Amino acid sequence: IRQKIVAGNWKMNGSKESIVSLINGLLKMERSNSEVVISPSFPYLSQVSDLIDGTGLVLAAQNVSQQVKGAYTGEVSASMLGDFGVKYVLLGHSERRSLYGETDQLVADKVKAILDFGLFPMLCIGETLTERESGKTLEVCQRQLQVVVDAVGIDAFEKIVIAYEPVWAIGTGLSASAEQAQDVHQSIRAFLAKASGSVSQKVQILYGGSVKASTSSALFEMADVDGALVGGASLDAEEFIAIVKAAG
Ligand code: 13P
Repeated sequence: IRQKIVAGNWKMNGSKESIVSLINGLLKMERSNSEVVISPSFPYLSQVSDLIDGTGLVLAAQNVSQQVKGAYTGEVSASMLGDFGVKYVLLGHSERRSLYGETDQLVADKVKAILDFGLFPMLCIGETLTERESGKTLEVCQRQLQVVVDAVGIDAFEKIVIAYEPVWAIGTGLSASAEQAQDVHQSIRAFLAKASGSVSQKVQILYGGSVKASTSSALFEMADVDGALVGGASLDAEEFIAIVKAAG
């Protein structure tokens, strides 16, 4: 049985002050059987790491350099993230792919950098509306996954969390239905099973895209939905707590 993960992607939001109140709100959460993850912007990792120390909340970062160290101005390495108690790193988010030109290969290189350092990639994949409408959903997801499989091997997926985030559902208020999510999650698992049945059964596949408390229970009932990657709703402590509660 796979443990559920509920992860909040705060994106480029927050301030020292707002983060203190958000975390104070989150600390009212009851203990959960799910792993609860939060992902602030780089400058706040240290602050958040201190605030959540000993609380059971888990820290994620939103990006990383594919390089180990050196003359890469403006970049942040996996070892730096490790220094601040980061466990997961979001990679391949559609905002990074579409706004910052991250290619499948760059995403794969970053996954490798994270695994090499012993941290855990949270690998985002998903199709655009045009791709869905032209029946290319699975083709796109498989292409995005295959490049990573080629780079790090199928066994590495025991350490990789996949987040299926259809681009058309991100920040639009238009979540995929539980059935639509299940369909794709099941196909992703079947695709990985061709390389390794045991890995495919272990890999946690989260859904992301306009997840709200009101829609989360139906999602979490689906056999292949192992949690959620939550954007906007993760900035509201009560709403996020309700999603965690729905995950059980
Ligand atoms: P929203 O929940 O705001 O749609 O964002 C989803 C997302 O991109 C999480 O990474």
